[in-house]
Amino acid sequence: MSNIVILGSGMGGFGAAYRLHAEGIAPVMYDRNGHHGGHTSSFRYNSGFLFDLGPHISFTKDTRIQDLFADSVDQQFETKPLNLNNYWRGHWPLHPVQLHLNGLPEDLVVKVISDFVEERQAPDRPVKNYADWLLSSFGRTFAELFPMQYTRKYHLTTADNMSTDWLGPRIYRPSLEEVIRGAISATAPNMHYITQFRYPTDGGFVSYLKKFVPLGNLKLNHELVSIDPRAQQLNFSNGHVDHYDALVSSVPLPDLIRMIQGAPQDVVDASRRLACSTCVIVNVGVNREDLSPCHLSYFYDDDICFTRLSFPHMLSPHNVPPGTGSIQAEVYFSDKYKPLTGSPQEWIEPVIKDLHRCGLLRDDDRILFSNALLLRYANIIFDLDRAAALKTVHGYLDDLGIAYCGRYGDWGYMWTDESFKSGENAAQRALERLVQSQVR
Ligand SMILES: Cc1cc2nc3c(=O)[nH]c(=O)nc-3n(C[C@H](O)[C@H](O)[C@H](O)COP(=O)(O)OP(=O)(O)OC[C@H]3O[C@@H](n4cnc5c(N)ncnc54)[C@H](O)[C@@H]3O)c2cc1C
Repeated sequence: MSNIVILGSGMGGFGAAYRLHAEGIAPVMYDRNGHHGGHTSSFRYNSGFLFDLGPHISFTKDTRIQDLFADSVDQQFETKPLNLNNYWRGHWPLHPVQLHLNGLPEDLVVKVISDFVEERQAPDRPVKNYADWLLSSFGRTFAELFPMQYTRKYHLTTADNMSTDWLGPRIYRPSLEEVIRGAISATAPNMHYITQFRYPTDGGFVSYLKKFVPLGNLKLNHELVSIDPRAQQLNFSNGHVDHYDALVSSVPLPDLIRMIQGAPQDVVDASRRLACSTCVIVNVGVNREDLSPCHLSYFYDDDICFTRLSFPHMLSPHNVPPGTGSIQAEVYFSDKYKPLTGSPQEWIEPVIKDLHRCGLLRDDDRILFSNALLLRYANIIFDLDRAAALKTVHGYLDDLGIAYCGRYGDWGYMWTDESFKSGENAAQRALERLVQSQVR
């Protein structure tokens, strides 16, 4: 029997386990954490509040994955229309703002529309980076005040230092008619690429992994610290050693490369150029539930410390004690562009202060719970270094036969369904490689 090892027990790791299970293989899975789920972990605290590790909803259009997730929770999930809004200098436009200018200052709306028209009438702008794309899509006033500003808070770099290959349907490019309609009417249609979502009724987002957990021989509290690729040996911080015939890894690439004995310097340097955001998540439980009409809110202003808020009690009522509400704030940093100094806990007070400032918390609200957690790897930053650095790193791993997967193995802007499928594909590659080596 060949030993196929999976590193990580998130969506990528379990996607790989699921693919191997179809071949009758129960892989060994290792995770450094004492729980499975990775970025899709959920935690219920003694106070009764449940928070996911960052806001997670499932909006996959892939019916196979929808069915797998639904089966994992025995069809016990919520289906809801997604409500999104934005906060900008005291205004709360609906999402996306380019379709909902109604209610913003009149002079601003006029300037946005006239810039938009001017841009559409000008010769096509060559698009060398994300800033060019934004200017050509929206005109200067809107691009600079909204998406470019949001980019600095969410991607921690400037739009002219970013590529456009991550965009897909993420940012809606409106017609002039749609912009005008949204400026005149308060009820312009929702054109977001996600219109509805599913979420497990009980246990938080991690419940979507419930039925996958038994598919692998999962060893928690096993932190990989080094790999000897020649001997095909894995060394863990607790002294455990394992040998692999095939290896699937969802470990973030910069960490993975650092652990590989004998990795060439140019590969190590390339892995250091890969940029990712780090997120401080601040969870807050409040003694009332009518906190917001929306599931997610985006914040543009520099003087508001968080970039995004979500409201877990709106996803499932079982995420909170009866009659209460919850807020999850995301405050972003990046080792490469804006390093976090100090501890995550230091952000609890500023977040609560800003929740008051933007009017979401009232003076008479009681905070029933608060904590702060660190997501060391949050969103891949598609800066202009990414493509070349990634090619070097992936090329090296391909040569070693390590099948990388998931958001931080593929190093892409991937949602849970994509990470799961990436795990399946990596397992397939590992199987093919095993067959080839046995033939040789
Ligand atoms: C803030 C935020 C919000 C998101 N919202 C959504 C959403 O609403 N919907 C959606 O579909 N997707 C969402 N995503 C994306 C989603 O989280 C990812 O696509 C998915 O969880 C990635 O899974 P993964 O298995 O690739 O990585 P991970 O979940 O990170 O799994 C990797 C695993 O490897 C383990 N590991 C790392 N290093 C070691 C080591 N040295 N030794 C042993 N184990 C190790 C980790 O502990 C972890 O369990 C969001 C992501 C973020 C950051």
